[in-house]
Amino acid sequence: MYHRIQPETDKRSDLAVTVKAFQSQMALLKKQGYQTITLAGLSRSCRDKTLLPARSLIITFDDAYASVYEWARPCLAAVGFIATVFVVSRSVGQYNFWDDGQNLPRLACLGISELRNLADAGWEIGSHGAEHLNMADLSHEQLKQETADSKLELEKKLERPVEVFAYPFGSWDEPARQAVQSAGYCAACAISPGTSSVTANLFALRRVYVKPTDSLWDFRRKVSPWYLSYRAWKKR
Ligand SMILES: [Zn+2]
Repeated sequence: MYHRIQPETDKRSDLAVTVKAFQSQMALLKKQGYQTITLAGLSRSCRDKTLLPARSLIITFDDAYASVYEWARPCLAAVGFIATVFVVSRSVGQYNFWDDGQNLPRLACLGISELRNLADAGWEIGSHGAEHLNMADLSHEQLKQETADSKLELEKKLERPVEVFAYPFGSWDEPARQAVQSAGYCAACAISPGTSSVTANLFALRRVYVKPTDSLWDFRRKVSPWYLSYRAWKKR
């Protein structure tokens, strides 16, 4: 799980990974023989019980910052990878309005033509809600707006199906999960709750948070198949 990719280090943010670090991480994955798949592809293979390539990987970007297009896209294209980008439907072509009033930088979000270009290049576009709300404890009406309405809005703009979802802040509860499922999504990403299998819950998939402070060694450890099991074991 990534958010921002940018040339310079941002000491105030634990969401901004430098281009240089990202490039080395992608080169390592390529060298290790990984290939990228989509969340919808993962969901289908679980449903149909078909096998995925042994070293399958899903790269995700939350919040759909413009920097993903500018900096991450060329790095990924260079090694033949795609990614999944989670868009806040009301922020298309706007900025990170959900951070207003928190003394955080204003960052441009991807516009519709950039999102369409990414989709044309094989990227998966998912929803990150309509307004980037914490989805635990929302009313029925708000849950519908964040899940079903954001899906429709993005589909109308993109002219493509939007099949996957990521909970803002990785936060969800049972009504939120049900809303995502009944809105017609086939999978949803959380962050890393401590169940044993990555795919134990397709509507709260575990993700590994790649931090700006991670060395290449940390990264190598984090993407190893044992990392999430280790984290789950440590949390017991
Ligand atoms: Zn977010």
